[in-house]
Amino acid sequence: MKRALITGVTGQDGSYLAELLLDKDYRVYGLVRRSSTVNFERIAHIQDRIEILSGDLLDQNSLLYALREAQPQEVYNLAAQSFVQTSWTQPVLTGDVTALGVTRMLEAVRAFNPEARFYQASSSEMYGKVQAVPQNEDTPFYPRSPYGVAKLYGHWATVNYRESYGMFTASGILFNHESPRRGLEFVTRKVTDGVARIKLGLQRELRLGNLGAQRDWGYAGDYVRAMWLMLQQDAPDDYVVATGHTYSVRDLVDSAFRRVGFDWQEHVLQDPRFMRPAEVDLLVGDAAKARTELGWTPEVEFEELVGMMVDADLARLRGHPLPPPALFG
Ligand code: GDP
Repeated sequence: MKRALITGVTGQDGSYLAELLLDKDYRVYGLVRRSSTVNFERIAHIQDRIEILSGDLLDQNSLLYALREAQPQEVYNLAAQSFVQTSWTQPVLTGDVTALGVTRMLEAVRAFNPEARFYQASSSEMYGKVQAVPQNEDTPFYPRSPYGVAKLYGHWATVNYRESYGMFTASGILFNHESPRRGLEFVTRKVTDGVARIKLGLQRELRLGNLGAQRDWGYAGDYVRAMWLMLQQDAPDDYVVATGHTYSVRDLVDSAFRRVGFDWQEHVLQDPRFMRPAEVDLLVGDAAKARTELGWTPEVEFEELVGMMVDADLARLRGHPLPPPALFG
């Protein structure tokens, strides 16, 4: 039986990846950071099938112990301070977790499991002020936030351990990916939750920042398949994972409000509190390499994704949360 260690297992991607690996008969270990209010909501339905290990990307020894315990053939490093806006108010913490945390994890693998295959969750935010449209593996990076800068460090650390030590370290440059399990602070989920609240009469308005920003939004359930595929290849490499389609925040809002038969213009307000010191205006990925080399294709498109998220938020707020999706298969 193969063993995998996932950092960030309680997050959106960690929960989908854990489902995928369980369905493939892996023994799944999940690293969880101690907190007074640990949130197991996303993995509640599979918690009895996962081995939870206590650890923190800030604590080198905890990573060594976790690797010694799990003895994984595959390590997926999904843990991070993952919210761009917060990276301006906590830039040092973001660098410590999201950047140096990658080196700590790589060092732990090098010390205890140098044969293990390592996946690093890199990000389209590394393209920032984009130098080409669409963005592929050869597009120069130009990060625009402490988060983007930290992710870029993690990406290059991953490449460097591959080149320095011959380790199997792959970097997935994932464009934005969403789901009903997305954190409420991200714009997609903020919008679908807000639309559901307005529909149910719990709220009247929705305050947002820059409506003009454009993103390539895919479905997280599709994207974790690409992570797994990267670690099944003969050699490690970097891959862009994206849909190739871009939509504005305005398009997102329009689609979500239309789902419940409302006009967004009657409910959405722009609020400078949600504007950012520097913006990433346009992201759109070219995933040709992932398509040809990994055989990966996204299955859920934008409208379907938004509809799925609005419906899930409506069901949750009505007190009838939808059952978790069936395991992959
Ligand atoms: P990001 O691409 O990782 O920063 O993902 P987000 O979902 O946090 O933001 C996506 C885009 O939506 C960014 O360009 C934000 O500036 C824009 N945006 C506009 N209004 C909001 C808002 O109220 N909250 C968030 N999180 N983003 C917003």
